Amino acid sequence: MSARAYALWPYFNIDGSRRTQLELDLNSVERVVEYLDLPQEPPATIENARPPAHWPSSLGPNEGQLLEVRDLEVKYAPDLPAVLHDVSFKLKARERVGLLGRTGSGKSTLAMSILRFVDPAKGQILIDGIDITSIGVQDLRSRLTFIPQDATLFSGTIRDNLDPFGDYSDEECLDALYRVQMITQSEHESRRSSRPASVHGLRIPVPREETDATAVDPSHLTPNPTADDASPSRAPSDSTTVGNGADTPSAAGAIKISLSTEVSAGGLNFSAGQRQLLAMARALLRQSAVVVLDEATSSIDFATDFKIQQTIREEFNNSLLLTGASSSPLLSLSSALTQPY
Ligand code: ATP
Ligand code: MG
Repeated sequence: MSARAYALWPYFNIDGSRRTQLELDLNSVERVVEYLDLPQEPPATIENARPPAHWPSSLGPNEGQLLEVRDLEVKYAPDLPAVLHDVSFKLKARERVGLLGRTGSGKSTLAMSILRFVDPAKGQILIDGIDITSIGVQDLRSRLTFIPQDATLFSGTIRDNLDPFGDYSDEECLDALYRVQMITQSEHESRRSSRPASVHGLRIPVPREETDATAVDPSHLTPNPTADDASPSRAPSDSTTVGNGADTPSAAGAIKISLSTEVSAGGLNFSAGQRQLLAMARALLRQSAVVVLDEATSSIDFATDFKIQQTIREEFNNSLLLTGASSSPLLSLSSALTQPY
């Protein structure tokens, strides 16, 4: 009899529910033991290789090659074939680049490599002159902004999600929500004027030019936009509601968006597209020099997709924006090669 079975011997006579509970508890212990054996991530910080406070900077000496990828080869495991082969390109500060490639061609892999969720098997990625494998992952990830294909939110309020460390004023948060079209202009104005001065209010919100008149005609984004799904102007009347997507479980149908709107665990009371818009609002607040956006390719209705496309086109003017599956590609990623158009 093994030591474990011997230790459990007194429990063999217990009733069914306690036995089930015991089994679940032992499963948890087994999982913890399994996690202890998992390969560890690279260190969060490397004391003698901390990047400068202003890194990465759009205005430094590396402005012309803020992001440089050299002969990059990426494998998910040493025994698996390479997903990216000899990928090389240079991108300037404030450039907007779309990555275009068939599904499975490696767009997300490239995006995740820039954040070091997977490290290069060969080659290098340099951001503002620093090889990203030479610094800690926390130093790297805290300086870049990554909007993943399946953006997740954490439970709390919208404000907690936009600004978890309380660095920005309510006005700035509302401004970001307006810029990604989660609230209308009138709501933006009325909430700004009705709010007391922010507790965090050290920064002055940047006034935004009204862009209604110049909104892009969405007809080119879909062959046959219908009256139901087309919402051509910025901030359409239903843009402040949650629950109109097929994957939003709100039984009531619509929830008004405000900074205090509750977000359930994982953001499941929002659709995939709305989660991406909120992640984009968070990115707008942070104003990183490098923003990597892995555009969601499915479960997005036309109106939300239009808002995402418009935000990509009109916002992030001071950032290098690298977008997976963009509609305005400059790079084409085949399974073997990245080529400038
Ligand atoms: P999509 O347009 O569907 O988002 P993509 O271009 O982003 O596709 P990736 O997700 O980067 O493609 O996947 C590229 C290749 O890497 C695929 O062939 C996939 O099978 C492989 N791959 C992705 N993730 C893993 C993983 N965790 N482990 C092993 N292989 C993976
Ligand atoms: Mg992908």
